[in-house]
Amino acid sequence: MMLLPWLERYQQQLSRLLNAQQLAHGLLLTGPSGIGKQQLAKWLVASLLCTSEHKPCGGCKSCLLLAAGSHADFLAVDSSGTTIGIDAVRQLSQFMHGRAQQQPNKVVLVSDADKLTEAAANALLKTLEEPPQNSFIVLYCSSGSALPATVISRCQQWQLAAEFSNNANDWLRQQTNRAVPDFLLTYCGGGPLKALALLESGAADQLQAALQHLTQYLQQQLSLTDCVKQLEQSEGLSQLLGWFLRRQLTLAANVSNPQRLLAIHQLYNRWCRDDSQILGQNKQLALSAFLIEFKRLHG
Ligand SMILES: [Zn+2]
Repeated sequence: MMLLPWLERYQQQLSRLLNAQQLAHGLLLTGPSGIGKQQLAKWLVASLLCTSEHKPCGGCKSCLLLAAGSHADFLAVDSSGTTIGIDAVRQLSQFMHGRAQQQPNKVVLVSDADKLTEAAANALLKTLEEPPQNSFIVLYCSSGSALPATVISRCQQWQLAAEFSNNANDWLRQQTNRAVPDFLLTYCGGGPLKALALLESGAADQLQAALQHLTQYLQQQLSLTDCVKQLEQSEGLSQLLGWFLRRQLTLAANVSNPQRLLAIHQLYNRWCRDDSQILGQNKQLALSAFLIEFKRLHG
């Protein structure tokens, strides 16, 4: 089973722990959207259930049952709703305490674990604290911070990152005929799959154009009116401006100008708080005010 290239090192470490029987009963994968958490989680589930030496083999009874979606020792918690409630966790816990049908393990997969309600997370904690033998819970979500610290502390956490290296960039270039703009992986928080989706949908071109307009405006090569006109049509504008501000924050932090840093931070906070509301009401006006303030700080 070939995984995305930047996932290989996690795959190797997890394999080693699995073979040494040192995997924790609770395994939590976190990482930015588009990094391949789902792919690694599925690989891990298959490896835990496979009965062959080279896991997952794809050919043993366990692997075949899993592929057919009818493995009795595997439960995927339904995370298609807006939250994962306590009933789902009760079902999970019942399943975990039942007897395994095939050897050796029972595995539960919880996608989008940040959807667990507080009550559900507390119920899950009990199962994590006293896990039945040979049972594993694989959880994944974008950010662990949405989960209670108590849950995280009971899990072996794997924070996935695609190093901003040639590894991920090369992979991205191999997948598409389109030019890959330099900012894209950073913009996607290091999630190459998300970057690829933005490239394929044409959204990356729009983002790049919007960034160009912003830069031109800051360098006095584009008037405020023209910049607003260009930007207001961009999709994902509030996200883009948020990212742009965060990048400016990093730059300001590097030159250590505390006042400027604070001012940009305030603008950023205001933006995060109001963007949807402001953009929904009078987009042109809101954008103009934002751009003027930003240019003043940029100055
Ligand atoms: Zn197998």
